[in-house]
Amino acid sequence: MSWTAAQTRYDAMQYRRCGRSGLKLPLISLGLWHNFGDDTPHNRKRDIARTAFDLGITHFDLANNYGPRPGAAEQAFGELLRTDFAPYRDEMIISSKAGYEMWPGPYGEWGSRKYLIASCDQSLKRMGLDYVDIFYSHRFDPETPLEETMMALDQIVRSGRALYVGISSYNSKRTREAAAILKELGTPCLIHQPSYSMINRWVEDDGLLDTLDDLGIGSIAFSPLAQGMLTNKYLSSIPEGSRATQGKYLSSIPEGSRATQGKSLREQFLSEENLATIRELNAIAERRGQTLAQMALAWVLRHGRVTTALIGASRPEQVKDCVGAISNLDFTEAELKEIEATTVE
Ligand code: NDP
Repeated sequence: MSWTAAQTRYDAMQYRRCGRSGLKLPLISLGLWHNFGDDTPHNRKRDIARTAFDLGITHFDLANNYGPRPGAAEQAFGELLRTDFAPYRDEMIISSKAGYEMWPGPYGEWGSRKYLIASCDQSLKRMGLDYVDIFYSHRFDPETPLEETMMALDQIVRSGRALYVGISSYNSKRTREAAAILKELGTPCLIHQPSYSMINRWVEDDGLLDTLDDLGIGSIAFSPLAQGMLTNKYLSSIPEGSRATQGKYLSSIPEGSRATQGKSLREQFLSEENLATIRELNAIAERRGQTLAQMALAWVLRHGRVTTALIGASRPEQVKDCVGAISNLDFTEAELKEIEATTVE
């Protein structure tokens, strides 16, 4: 029997304009980096995706290599599109990316035209789509001329494979260069996808948020919960089945954000200092009447500069909890100061 989405799906979610574009994105987006690979039962993936859509999450973020088994998340999502979401395609924003290693040999990673276009075609095939809504260069390639990477993105749009383009984890300087090339080509850069959370501030230090404001580019903050650290799950112990017990932490973090998040997330996570910070943040969240996850998301969204917070979830209940963030997005000056004092050395 086919699935019917909740009638109430647009009742509570809020949507924010993505930079100076015509596209609005939900305040919370769902990423399929973890929990949509071959190691997760299909029913769980389906329940997470359905719950998200029923709560107004219209934006689903993928990449060629999400798995495990690179490509598995796109394949699973393609299956869900066929069985559940086909009638709702025009209500959805589906994103994919290429940049990290996807297949062997010199054409299976980084930023060449050869790789980006072949990878986009593979992603479309895996998901059974004619086009994705947003296609990203997943990381800056220091060896390929930036013009080539941006021209490939432009071609991906002009050939009908994507509606918009974005870049991920590019620093402020590279972002300005990429945006200028794309503007000249006539395909504006819609969105930037950096990591950002209360305990990962590189976008502030690098000036990236100012650059995006200046250029009218939207932003989607990935790992706003610091992969689960900014939730209540690690307050007393490390629960079985959580990411921290799966040994995925460091190896699966893109290099760009690894550098800014410290040597090893696992080490950091296990430190008493880190746990003390999380407990202090949790106390602030409790006073606000929110869970820590909800406060972490509200904080990322607090100044209106970040278009959407890009979460992951291993259970539908986590999605529900996260969406609850939007009922209290305002912070007092005192709360913001307290969070700064707790998280910034
Ligand atoms: P988060 O920081 O949101 O971490 C998600 C994890 O936090 C979940 O898997 C779960 O951990 C835990 N969690 C989520 N909600 C709750 C809750 N309410 N209560 C308790 N625990 C919760 O984001 P991710 O690191 O997963 O990244 C999100 C998305 O960002 C990815 O799916 C991907 O789309 C994108 N991304 C992009 C990158 C890039 O280079 N462009 C790099 C990394 C991510 P558990 O699984 O342990 O239960």
